[in-house]
Amino acid sequence: MSTYDLIVIGAGPGGYVCAIRAAQLGLKVAVVEGRETLGGTCLNVGCIPSKALLHASHLLHETHENFEKMGLMGAHVTVDWQKMLGYKAETVAGNTKGIEFLFKKNKIDWLKGWAVIEAAGKVKVGDTTHETKNIVIASGSVPSALKGVTVDNDAGVVVDSTGALALPKIPKSMVVIGAGVIGLELGSVYARLGAEVTVVEYLDAITPGMDGEVQKQFQKILSKQGLKFVLGAAVSGVEEAQGGAKVAYTLRKDDSQHSLDAEVVLVATGRRPYVEGLGLDALGVALTDRGFVKIDDHWQTSVKGIYAIGDAVPGPMLAHKAEDEGMAVAEVIAGKHGHVNYAVIPGVIYTTPEVASVGLTEESAKADGRKIKVGKFPFMGNARAKAMMQADGFVKLIADAQTDRILGCHIIGPNAGEMIHEVCVAMEFGAAAQDLALTCHAHPTTSEAVREAALACGDGAIHV
Ligand code: FAD
Repeated sequence: MSTYDLIVIGAGPGGYVCAIRAAQLGLKVAVVEGRETLGGTCLNVGCIPSKALLHASHLLHETHENFEKMGLMGAHVTVDWQKMLGYKAETVAGNTKGIEFLFKKNKIDWLKGWAVIEAAGKVKVGDTTHETKNIVIASGSVPSALKGVTVDNDAGVVVDSTGALALPKIPKSMVVIGAGVIGLELGSVYARLGAEVTVVEYLDAITPGMDGEVQKQFQKILSKQGLKFVLGAAVSGVEEAQGGAKVAYTLRKDDSQHSLDAEVVLVATGRRPYVEGLGLDALGVALTDRGFVKIDDHWQTSVKGIYAIGDAVPGPMLAHKAEDEGMAVAEVIAGKHGHVNYAVIPGVIYTTPEVASVGLTEESAKADGRKIKVGKFPFMGNARAKAMMQADGFVKLIADAQTDRILGCHIIGPNAGEMIHEVCVAMEFGAAAQDLALTCHAHPTTSEAVREAALACGDGAIHV
């Protein structure tokens, strides 16, 4: 048995970042992880493998759609699926081993196994109880179940995101249930690889919560890429059928019943916090009505000395939000002032084009009764986007009507996931749209579109 200053439960982006920061601040730290490899959902079955498949399938799409237009001639590129899965696995392994290296470098113990919290200050792993001054729960999340649907990733017919990242072969057809980020990213992958993809969504718009104009444009672009959408549809069940499965749904507008057949059905209806087996009930750690661990402003649970972060607590289920909380809670435990600005957490969808957003949408600002101005600039007016044959989207900047302070930004277009950070930094500094408009941006870059949207909040954009 060892005694620690901090035991972190879970080695996802929340847990491993928390452990590293705590070790850097001089604490003796261990991380309990039950998975075979470090990195949690994100590195093993989430952000990283999905981005590897998005990257490879995007390049394939480019060869088929745009190469000839650019004068790049040659044999039609085909897919070796097993090799692509191998590339994905190597990408994952490179990253998970990287975390092992960082643990060694920072003298963090990896306690292999599943943790049970026996009491504040006591964590049991296997037969050993470890003592610690503080505990951070970073146990993450798992895919939510959908009533009437049984997922079997091994069978590879009705799968969740984990199964969809490792299908035995590229299906000819796929139904994706849920038009959120994960469903659309993975749906895009298989559409580019040749599958006929239909997305069935309960709500009347894709990517719930996003800016309305972005939602519409995004659906239009994805439709042009071959994805089909059935919106306002409540899935009532999925049954195995010959050569795949049958998805039954009811259209909410008129209660009519329909069904769709597909070789593979991906259930992507969200994720739920994972706290099973930790013993929280017996400890009296309070949960919200949706099963998240309740925390105060310093990430402490209802039990002193036990903290919680990441997907296990309320807020956006994003790796970088978990990381920020990991750093902040480590600082709080070390006696410093950890801080997370929840108003400036970007969200990115890594399709082509990418979609990125931060802060208030036009709809949410208006619902709050705020007086706003909107500066919009289309990538059609951006030379670099045109050269890249990706001029379909736009940048939309939301600023306060009186003070000009930036309240939010929504981008659909090339490099959106990188460009959004300029706006995040500006928002962190409390910048006005005019501050961005007055900042010289290199030409030709897609970032110029952000400046143009800022100019559009004032006297007007130039290239429209
Ligand atoms: P997790 O990463 O879920 O890690 C928790 C870890 O805790 C797990 O490894 C688990 O084994 C371990 N654990 C749980 N209980 C115990 C226990 N009792 N004992 C020991 N170990 C335990 N987010 C983004 O920001 N960008 C993206 O591009 C993105 N893409 C995604 C794509 C997919 C397909 C999926 C599924 C998710 C994606 N996410 C993305 C979400 C992101 O993965 C999560 O928000 C993030 O992993 C949450 O981090 P976490 O540290 O809270 O938990």
